[in-house]
Formats: sequence, structure tokens, C-alpha cells
Amino acid sequence: MQVFDTAKDAALSLRPDEPVYCFRPDVLKADTRSFMKQFPGKTAYAVKTNGEPLVLKTLAEAGVQAFDVASPAEFAAVRAVAPEAEMLYMHPVKAQSDIRLALEGYGIRVIAVDHEDEVTKLIRVVRALDIDPGALTVFVRIQTKGHATYELSKKFGAGPAQAVELLQRLSRHGFPVGICFHVGSQIQDPDTYERALASADWVRNRAGLPLAGLDVGGGFPAEYGHDPNRKKPEMPSLDEIMARLRQDISEWGFEETPLVAEPGRVIVARAFSLVVRVLLRKGRRLYINDGIWASLSDSWTGKITLPARFIPDPAIRSRNGDPDKLVPFRVCGATCDSVDILSRPFWLPETVDTGDWIEIGHIGAYSMALRTRFNGFYPDLFVEVKTPFDAGEAPDGFASLETMAD
Ligand SMILES: *Cc1c(COP(=O)(O)O)cnc(C)c1O
Repeated sequence: MQVFDTAKDAALSLRPDEPVYCFRPDVLKADTRSFMKQFPGKTAYAVKTNGEPLVLKTLAEAGVQAFDVASPAEFAAVRAVAPEAEMLYMHPVKAQSDIRLALEGYGIRVIAVDHEDEVTKLIRVVRALDIDPGALTVFVRIQTKGHATYELSKKFGAGPAQAVELLQRLSRHGFPVGICFHVGSQIQDPDTYERALASADWVRNRAGLPLAGLDVGGGFPAEYGHDPNRKKPEMPSLDEIMARLRQDISEWGFEETPLVAEPGRVIVARAFSLVVRVLLRKGRRLYINDGIWASLSDSWTGKITLPARFIPDPAIRSRNGDPDKLVPFRVCGATCDSVDILSRPFWLPETVDTGDWIEIGHIGAYSMALRTRFNGFYPDLFVEVKTPFDAGEAPDGFASLETMAD
């Protein structure tokens, strides 16, 4: 992989017509270690956030020894780069053949359920393979309520009374049991974890069983851009959120329980930026070589403010407009699909033109993991970049929360 000091150096040297992922392994390692230092338990990276082999390998180098996996392809990806790492199979709804593969083929011994039929599948596989249930830890996923940018409790999780029954049934079969939850991605309310811990405490007390683990899931917020035209949302820093989580864990009496967290976004968001090229400027529209079917679907949902930096093409000798004036541009994606338009405008210097590049920061989470081959476009060029996105000059622009009239 080619190495550059900055994404701008990469753009000006490669003059790429295709999108370029700028990977910053040092940022990834630093963000990983900082999370691990602050979380008083096992850190299991959520592979779905970004399952690139170079990411998994760098995480293993940074000291991550456990991975939250959800599918056979994720089992294989982790095993390939970190053969010693532990895998936690935390998807609550699984094919029976995948459960078998996890237990038999990969030696996975930690698994999550949220329904009695999932327990039935698990028991069938455990009997068929003649595994001692005492060698597994089965986490019951409970529903939580809270405010996250992406809510998941509507989809997964057992209600409190049902969770109690599941724990008791599993325990009668000889499985050590734990409680897990996942509050959704990018929490917006610092009370979210405390409310989930309160539910976990209720379930634990009713079940009347010793817990082999408590898994607090992911959801830890990553830093994104900020629209200067808007009030900055009141959100404590990650340090404050983690301090509060530690305090809540002890207040709710979970200090003695082995703890697990499944961070994704918070670990990997800052580790990548994306350099895109302006294929065409048409008035206040920019047609770029990426879009919602490639790396920008997480931003397309309209919920995240991405920081952006303008990389003017030095080959363009004459420009119109004021380079110091930021104006909103509607950003159209590369495919022929009419929905492939970002829901938010990008604020960029008025001088942006056909042929220029834009570096979009903090796109490590849920970007390349969600890219498709739609219309034959599949960005897959990676370079390594030494300087963090936030170092040096401030980003010029950002994707605003305001919607834009055409
Ligand atoms: C997606 C997911 C995570 C990671 O969530 P982030 O918000 O990216 O930290 C963790 N646990 C489970 C079960 C998930 O589905």
C-alpha cells in the first residue's frame, strides 16, 4: 500500500478518478487503546462496522483479543488475521447451520439469544456435537430504551419477563448465562447506558441466578463534524461517558460481573477518510465518484455531519467565485439512480469545480462496509496516510444538517 503524509498529497500525486480510502493505522491504534483503557472489561470489536482485513489486523496489533461476529464470513475474516482471538457470536437470530459452524468449525463458546426458539436451536446443536453446556456462555439480549442515532431495540431483544424465563431455561440446561444489550449506534443521550443497566439489574434480580457476564454492547459515539450555523449539541466527551458508565456499573452492582463491550464506530470512525473527485460541477450541484451506494450511505441517512476538506486541483488555472466563501452544494452520487443524492449539502468554497477533490473525514465506520457493486462502481483503492484528518488546517467544509432547496 502506498504511504503519504496527507490525503492531499495522495490526491495530488495519484490524481485519482476513483475514490481513495485513506487509512490511518496510528489513529486506529490510538483510539482502540484509549477505549480499552477506559473500559473495565473485555473489548470485543464489532466486526460489521468495518471488517477490512487491514483493520482487523491493526486492531489485533493494538491489543484487541476479542471480536463480536455475526456471520460465517466474519468468523473467517477474524480467524484469517487473528487466529488466537476469541470470537463472540452476538447476533440474536441465527441459522442453525451457522450455529453449528460457529461451535464446531470455529470453537466459538460465547453466543447471544433473545427468543426461546434460538435456545432450542442452540440446544440441538450442542447435543449433536456432544458439547458440555457448561463450556458455553449464553448471553440473553434484553431490550433497551434510549436515544441513539440508529435505534435497534425495535428489532432485537427480549422483554424483561421473557428474558428472565430465557435465563432460567438456559441455566436449567447447564449453560452459564449472561445479559447483553446494544443500545443502538451513536448514542445521543448519556443516560442511555444507565437505563439499560437498570433493566439488566431488574432481570438479574428476578432470574435469581449468578451472571457469568454482562455485555454492554456498542453505541459509543464517535466524533464527527459540526455545522457552525447550528448550536453544538450538548453531548459529553467520550471520557465523560466512559467515567459515567464505570460509575453506573458499580452503582448497579455489576462490578464483580465479568464485563464485555462491543465498540465499533467509536474505534474505527477516525481511522479513515475518503478522497472523492468532482466529476462535474453543474451550478450548485457536484457530481462525485462515490455516493449512497458506495461509501456514503451512513451519511445519506442524514444523521451524521461529516467534516470535509477541499483539495483544489492545481491544474485548474482560472476559477470563479470567492475562495474564502463557503456555499452549500448539493452532492450527487456516481450511479444512475435518482435516489443517489446525499440528503445534506456540503458547504465548500465557492470556487470548487469539475476535477477538484474533496476529502471527507471520519468515514471509517459503516462506509466501506456498506458499499455495493451497484452500477459497476466499487471503490477499493486504499492508501496509508500519516497525518490525522484533524491535524493541520481545519476542515473547510462539512455536510450540513439543513436540507437544501433545489
Ligand atoms: C453494530 C453492533 C455493535 C457496534 O455498534 P457501534 O455503535 O458501532 O459501536 C455492537 N454490538 C452489536 C450487537 C451490534 O449489532
